[in-house]
Amino acid sequence: MRARLIAGNWKMHGSADSLRTLQELIDGIPVSGPDVLICPPATLIASFARLAAGSPVTIGGQDCHASASGAHTGDIAAEMLAEAGADSVIVGHSERRTGHLESDDQVAAKARAAWRAGLAALICVGEHEDARDQGEADQVVSAQCRQSIPDGATGSNTVVAYEPVWAIGTGRTPSLKDIGAMHAMLRRRMIARFGPEGEAIRLLYGGSVKPSNAAKILAVPDVDGALVGGASLRAVDFLPIIRAAS
Ligand code: PEP
Repeated sequence: MRARLIAGNWKMHGSADSLRTLQELIDGIPVSGPDVLICPPATLIASFARLAAGSPVTIGGQDCHASASGAHTGDIAAEMLAEAGADSVIVGHSERRTGHLESDDQVAAKARAAWRAGLAALICVGEHEDARDQGEADQVVSAQCRQSIPDGATGSNTVVAYEPVWAIGTGRTPSLKDIGAMHAMLRRRMIARFGPEGEAIRLLYGGSVKPSNAAKILAVPDVDGALVGGASLRAVDFLPIIRAAS
C-alpha cells in the first residue's frame, strides 16, 4: 500500500509572512490524511522545518546541485537542504529543465546527490505539447525516466511526478483517460526496472491541480498523489486538495 502524498511547490513565492500560511495548513490537515510536503524557496526551509516539526507536514527543497560543496555561485547542495531541515528535494522540474537547460543526466546526478544527503528525490518528468500532439508523449516520458531516475531508486528514496509541461500553470489538464494511461505506463516501467521497489515508488500527477479537479484526478488508478504549484500557495486552496486525498 502506497501512502498518498500531496506536495506543494511554492516556486519563487513566499516571505517570512508565509509562516502564517504554513500554520493554517498544519491546523487544517485532517487526521489520517495523506503525507503532505511543502517545498518553499530555500530561504524559508529552516524556519518552515522548525514550525512543521512534529506535524504531518514535511519540508523539501525545489532543486539542488549535484556536488556537496564547491565553486557554484547561487547553487545549493542537497546536504545544505538536509541541514536546514528538508527531507526531500524536487529535481528535474520542467522550469529547471527549460529555464536552466538541465539535461536528464544532470537530473539523475541531482537525484543521486539527494540520496547521498539522505533526502528523497522527487523526480519530475513530462512531455511538451508538441510531443503529445504527435503521439510521442509515452516515448518522451519513458526516455526521461530511463535517464533521469538513477539505478537504486526505491519507494523510500524516490517519488516520480508526471507533469505534462503544457499543463503547468495553464489551467489545462490531460483527460483522466490520458492521465490514467500515462500512470499505468509509468507503473509498468517502474516495476520492470526496479522490481518490488517499483511497486512502492509513488507516482504523482502535476499540472493545474485545483480544488475543483483534485478528487477526480486522485481517483485515477496509479495516481498516488499530486504535485501542486499555484494552488498550494494558499491554505484555502491547498487544504481541499489535501482533503480530496484523505
Ligand atoms: C508545478 O509547478 O509543479 C505545477 C504543477 O504547477 P501548477 O499546479 O501551478 O500547474
